[in-house]
Amino acid sequence: MTHAEYEYENQEDLKYLWYLQLSGRGDEYAPVRRIKCKGCERVYFTQVHCVKFCYHCQQGNVGAMYVKRRKSLKKRENTVCKNCGNTFTPKRAGAVYCSSACRQKAYRERVTDEVSEQKGHLL
Ligand SMILES: [Zn+2]
Ligand SMILES: [Zn+2]
Repeated sequence: MTHAEYEYENQEDLKYLWYLQLSGRGDEYAPVRRIKCKGCERVYFTQVHCVKFCYHCQQGNVGAMYVKRRKSLKKRENTVCKNCGNTFTPKRAGAVYCSSACRQKAYRERVTDEVSEQKGHLL
């Protein structure tokens, strides 16, 4: 078992140590830090001084992925819906409609346009 695994298994104990520390009874050689994971933003207790991610997010760069995803979500903020004009934050890159309702409405209008165009050719 690695130390990170140990901490993950013993979050309750670390939390207890952290409370002891708050009341001045902590272990000064191995202070517990209460961090907010930079990845999933969950509260995590650790004695490792440089850790910024919870155990889960330390695995296979999951944390870095979370950070990247949040950054790209931030970039997408205030996208204007092509149908209703509302601003929204799309869940995936390249989305232009705020909801599936708007997307369907726009799709239907496009189809109707195409159909009426075809009718025009026939006449
Ligand atoms: Zn995390
Ligand atoms: Zn819309």
